Amino acid sequence: MAAVEHFDVIVIGTGAGGGTLAYRLAPSGKRILLIERGDYVPREKDNWSTKAVNLEGKYNTREVWRDAAGGELHPHTNYWVGGNTKFYGAALFRLRREDFGEIKHWGGPSPAWPISYEDLEPYYSQAEHLYQVHGRRAEDPTEPPASAPYPHPPISHEPRMQQLSDDFARLGLKPFHVPLGVMLNEQNPRASRCIRCETCDGHPCLVYAKADAQVLCVDPALEHPNVTLLTHAYVSRLETGPSGRDVRRVIVERDGVTEAYSADIVVVSAGAINSAALLLRSANDKHPRGLANGSDVVGRHYMGHVNSVLMAVSKCPNPTVFQKTLALNDFYFGATEWDFPMGHISFVGKLDGDTLKAGAPAIAPGWTLELMAKHSLDFWLTSEDLPDSNNRVTIDRAGNIVLTYQPNNEEGHTRLIEKLKGLMKQQTKCRVHGHECHEGLFARSLYLGQRIPLAGVAHQNGTIRFGHDPETSALDVNCKTHEVDNLYVVDASFFVSSGAVNPALTVMANALRVGDHLLERLK
Ligand SMILES: Cc1cc2nc3c(=O)[nH]c(=O)nc-3n(C[C@H](O)[C@H](O)[C@H](O)COP(=O)(O)OP(=O)(O)OC[C@H]3O[C@@H](n4cnc5c(N)ncnc54)[C@H](O)[C@@H]3O)c2cc1C
Ligand code: SF4
Repeated sequence: MAAVEHFDVIVIGTGAGGGTLAYRLAPSGKRILLIERGDYVPREKDNWSTKAVNLEGKYNTREVWRDAAGGELHPHTNYWVGGNTKFYGAALFRLRREDFGEIKHWGGPSPAWPISYEDLEPYYSQAEHLYQVHGRRAEDPTEPPASAPYPHPPISHEPRMQQLSDDFARLGLKPFHVPLGVMLNEQNPRASRCIRCETCDGHPCLVYAKADAQVLCVDPALEHPNVTLLTHAYVSRLETGPSGRDVRRVIVERDGVTEAYSADIVVVSAGAINSAALLLRSANDKHPRGLANGSDVVGRHYMGHVNSVLMAVSKCPNPTVFQKTLALNDFYFGATEWDFPMGHISFVGKLDGDTLKAGAPAIAPGWTLELMAKHSLDFWLTSEDLPDSNNRVTIDRAGNIVLTYQPNNEEGHTRLIEKLKGLMKQQTKCRVHGHECHEGLFARSLYLGQRIPLAGVAHQNGTIRFGHDPETSALDVNCKTHEVDNLYVVDASFFVSSGAVNPALTVMANALRVGDHLLERLK
């Protein structure tokens, strides 16, 4: 192995957490090394092919994990510069203020965070600016207070979505525009980077108009001469000094060669599953259960949301191109007849026949997949799953990832589905088919072959939780490990509870917060 090159900071992973942190640290002039196992997503027509992306999984990792029974698990996750933000739907929500406190759910308590909403609020505003969020304040009834307006106006609804929004409002609900990180300028279309296409959610953006961590954070960070990026560089292990109190070497496998790097500060941001696996793989005699894992929480409390995709099929077609503009949070904390949280209702990108082949719904009588997709509104329902210590990431003898997961807190989700069914029956009569237009709701199976909740890993979080108590958490409130003085974690691992809105903005805001702490420490 060649001589070890030393940096001020090493950041492992370039997604929502690592990319955002690099952006915050770059102007400091400190020597920063970003280590990313993937490459840049190639810019090619397949970026926008639903066949290539959804049916063939062209950009998914080919890595094979295991489930608890030893069965093969093909995770739906992506290893590229920018991490999963290259593929995300860019729905950029703040957690609700209440999510930071303890909340009673049907399935048990959702625990309180060691920081309050107010602690994170300034960073949410900064993250919304950095990721160019388009939205409108005060429409969403559960929205927490914000110190700044959204930097851009909301993305407008297309006619079918506007009609549904009007129907929901007529029923006394408060539909709102989804806060979205797409660089669409509807006021001046010729100046708009985004062209409002149908292949956004789940796809990389061919024209770099999605607010992802590569385009908005990693590439700008690399304009600073003090920042270096290694791609195709897989971090296999972290090694400590003899006391076990500091990481001395970051071991990297790159192009078939093993290399080592060192830094004053090492930040792990490989995604909640890979970060936990890395710490577990890095066990040594001072850390026999895994690095920084005296508490035995590393890898535990894996959460990924309880999610469903539901297609509301109508006799009339749904010609919407960009469907992800509308959401409902009226049942986030419950309803008059049910005292427990149910969750969040929004949309996935418009489904098509190819996408449906990868997780076919029960086909409505007399319909084909292609036809169903042309006539459906495609809902995305999210409910909170609770941090069960038995839902966990472990590694097998060969160092491969094993994911053990039993869904929990499902009753609220079932009731949310029932609510949506009820609402869809009350849509305005269509002029051609009257109330008969609506054919019902069909679940799209998210789980290929029903093997494992694959889609669950898209919202992975909670595996290296932060907290005040080293007995029950692995990270302190600054996301530094309790046991290793120069080791931090800034991806979605730090979550204590998952809330029921999409996680990325919270990861980004927290990375900015930890970034400020590190800038102080590096002074
Ligand atoms: C299809 C899809 C749609 C989504 N839609 C939304 C949405 O609309 N809104 C939302 O808020 N969230 C969404 N998400 C989730 C969102 O993308 C994640 O919450 C977010 O990216 C998590 O950030 P992270 O930093 O924890 O991990 P990631 O963004 O996954 O970054 C981890 C990085 O670490 C790298 N890495 C992993 N292991 C190693 C290693 N050993 N060595 C070196 N590098 C390594 C990976 O290649 C990756 O670049 C979506 C996800 C998917 C897959
Ligand atoms: S909708 Fe806009 S941001 Fe999304 S993929 Fe299309 S052009 Fe890119």
